[in-house]
Amino acid sequence: MRTCGREGSIVVDLPDATSEQQQRRPAGGERIVAIETPDQVANLLVTVVPLLLVGFAMWRAWGGALRWPDLVVMALTYTLTALGITVGYHRLFTHRSFKTSRPLRALFAALGSAAIEGPVIEWVANHRKHHRFSDEPGDPHSPHVGRASGLRGALRGLAHAHIGWILGGEEMASRERYAKDLLADPVVRFMDRTFVVWVLAGLAFPFALGLLLTGSIVGGLTGLLWGGAVRIFCLHHATFSINSLCHFFGRRRFETGDQSRNLFWLAVPTLGEAWHNNHHAFPTSARHGLRWWQVDPSGWLIEGLERVGLVWDVVRVTPERQLARSAPGT
Ligand SMILES: [Zn+2]
Ligand SMILES: [Zn+2]
Repeated sequence: MRTCGREGSIVVDLPDATSEQQQRRPAGGERIVAIETPDQVANLLVTVVPLLLVGFAMWRAWGGALRWPDLVVMALTYTLTALGITVGYHRLFTHRSFKTSRPLRALFAALGSAAIEGPVIEWVANHRKHHRFSDEPGDPHSPHVGRASGLRGALRGLAHAHIGWILGGEEMASRERYAKDLLADPVVRFMDRTFVVWVLAGLAFPFALGLLLTGSIVGGLTGLLWGGAVRIFCLHHATFSINSLCHFFGRRRFETGDQSRNLFWLAVPTLGEAWHNNHHAFPTSARHGLRWWQVDPSGWLIEGLERVGLVWDVVRVTPERQLARSAPGT
């Protein structure tokens, strides 16, 4: 076990990043990477198609066609792909909160890819850029930067942070600048290049499971509907809510210099990621839920894997360090 000694800083190998203040410099010299039109079309498709299919699934469920195998398939695929994002993409690849073997790195990258939130290196680069510029110009998805005042401005800011930034893509991060370490990692590079394979596997799995549980092609197709489209829709919006709601609503225990917040009711669907103020205060911590009652299934999984020897060098933040950074009265 190692304890977190660089709370408040970001684990990004940038040669000129020596302090938080330097890291949070304005985006002036930043090269803005605009996403290409085919990417924008793909982003639009993966956000709109699941929405339409969710409508279809709801209509079928209303007609009594929802059966327990569909719910089992959905719960399983949601949990696995969500962990791919929270434990894999976020805590392992972005922040290096723990270390693990090559096969487990590949597995987490595959599960994260199946969530269809983009290839691993692109996701990591954007998220590291978010930490670097948190709620300042250069942040790819802040609900606050450049927003007008009033309710209209707030709603526009939230819409941008939730999904607008993906479709617009003006502040996408450069992979070379923000994820040099991953570009140099053969396992991660391979998983990044084969992204589409894992996306397809993430659709084949619920179909196969539905088929297995019901013994019928129709069961396979409804498995695909719930474990594919509905699951993608729900997980997308759980993740997007971290970017929008968790920088807008909720409580702040730590003074982080940004607007990150802990939003308790979002902790279960996001598997612990909604303790977002904690996370901005201690980005490298493997646990985002820092108090015993702060539900954090992703942190629990990392500690469980540590106990059986599958992960090691888990970053922890001592209670003393937490206390030292706590805002008065929290
Ligand atoms: Zn954030
Ligand atoms: Zn993060």
